[in-house]
Amino acid sequence: MQEIDSRAALACLEHIVDVIHENRQYLIDLDAAVGDADHGANMDRGFQAVRQKLAGTEQSDIGAMLKLVASTLISTVGGASGPLYGTGFLRAGTALAGKSSLTMADAVAAMAAFVEGIKMRGKAETGEKTMLDALVPAQDALKAAADAGQSPTEAFAAAATAAEQGMRATIPLIATKGRASYLGERSRDHQDPGATSTALILRAVADTLAKVQTA
Ligand code: ADP
Ligand code: MG
Repeated sequence: MQEIDSRAALACLEHIVDVIHENRQYLIDLDAAVGDADHGANMDRGFQAVRQKLAGTEQSDIGAMLKLVASTLISTVGGASGPLYGTGFLRAGTALAGKSSLTMADAVAAMAAFVEGIKMRGKAETGEKTMLDALVPAQDALKAAADAGQSPTEAFAAAATAAEQGMRATIPLIATKGRASYLGERSRDHQDPGATSTALILRAVADTLAKVQTA
């Protein structure tokens, strides 16, 4: 598969909903250690609402699909992660406006817009123990894979692996943004919940593309 069509994009979103639901308690437990134990509940509430919104739509515009995800997350997730992911999806949706099929160049542009949106909204950089510690390595891996001429399936697999490495690399970090920053030194030795949900989302996309490709 050299392009991601709207059917594949919808399948990715539906699989994200399932993976977040399956990992609800895991994300709650991670957030219990460094925050207020709501990240799993926040994300699951948001993506269940996304499933309902997507159910009725016969949407071929992937940009519009992502904007619908954005507005749904912003209005339902709450917490820090709602506006952050919401802004990411909104920027990515804007970058893909009107597109019913994505080339690797489109995917790279959407990922860049997604990351920019989150950086702009949260005023964080990598190394602060946030979702950006999973996202930015994933963005770099996606770009490198695109430059090497890899397919979307290969590129998102590389991005998911980079996100998982970034997620694990948050463990020794001290949080300087978000609720976990209130803990200071005591935020060390815990994996960041938002970096974990980001890695789960990217792995869900990679797994879906791999399946769609062989279908
Ligand atoms: P809250 O912290 O309001 O309870 P959540 O628990 O849903 O919200 O989300 C927490 C996650 O949000 C953190 O694990 C972190 O990854 C992410 N986060 C918090 N603040 C920022 C920020 N300024 N920039 C990027 N990500 C952030
Ligand atoms: Mg929380």
